[in-house]
Amino acid sequence: MRTLRTVPELRATLAESRLDRRSIGLVPTMGSLHEGHASLIRRARERCDVVVVSLFVNPAQFDEAADLAAYPRDDAGDEATAARAGADILFAPPVEVVYPPGFATTVTVAGVSEPLEGMSRGRRHFDGVATVVTKLLNMVGPDVAFFGQKDAQQVLVVRSLVRDLDLPVEIEVCPTVREPDGLALSSRNVLLDSDERDRALALSRALRGAEAAVTAGERDPIRVRQAALALLDDAGVEPEYLELVAAENLAPVSVIDRPVLLAVAARIGDVRLIDNVILSGAPAPSDSEPLPSAAVRSLA
Ligand code: AMP
Repeated sequence: MRTLRTVPELRATLAESRLDRRSIGLVPTMGSLHEGHASLIRRARERCDVVVVSLFVNPAQFDEAADLAAYPRDDAGDEATAARAGADILFAPPVEVVYPPGFATTVTVAGVSEPLEGMSRGRRHFDGVATVVTKLLNMVGPDVAFFGQKDAQQVLVVRSLVRDLDLPVEIEVCPTVREPDGLALSSRNVLLDSDERDRALALSRALRGAEAAVTAGERDPIRVRQAALALLDDAGVEPEYLELVAAENLAPVSVIDRPVLLAVAARIGDVRLIDNVILSGAPAPSDSEPLPSAAVRSLA
């Protein structure tokens, strides 16, 4: 694996692959790589001839200076993890390569950027994401770019900008990788102390509780939300948001009769975590029957 830091070096290296008609896969990351990132890299390895992993902690998408300063970094570990998972190129540009003096362009995706993370972190967050993803796609020119379902809203933002700007790339979304106890892997998890890690489990527990309610036949988003909120409350976790919205466009839903995204964000101590699950609105076998009493109890 080669580590490259400038766009001319990257383009020169990829030009040869392109001449040989080799397919290029891109996995954009902010580093501090874990098994979630590795799963994306391995998937890119399966599908593409050349795998590029980008590592750039994008200052433009951080809404708080303290959050950017505290964001975990592990350059040596990242090289090893990326290489082990099958990357050919680690593209790790310094900030001035991505945002040189005079940089003046921002990509804004209306609509799907606005609720959830957009409300909680402010508009600039997804402006930063959309701008850097557009730049990375233009720098690398991949055939396929791989993103995690862990950042479900980011996936919708990226799909929108690719469609609206006619970018010639396929977006593949990979499932969320979790710890055996359910905690979604995140670079930020290393910042949790052991008490906080215990409390952080409430996020995935709340999502699973909601999922169980829907599997048991509940189709009212208000009641499903209440069930999830109760599980967060049991652990003393107050979410920044916990919302059920249409999975394809994040619009509000009044009944769970199609895929619905249940997304949650919460601060555990100083660490901000997000997680989500897609609740399938497929008609349950028991749709016309009353809820089993266990499910009703879990919603009380
Ligand atoms: P990040 O470094 O947090 O910006 O994440 C880089 C990519 O890895 C994004 O597409 C994330 O959605 C994805 N990712 C982060 N955590 C996970 C996870 N636990 N499972 C799967 N993908 C993930």
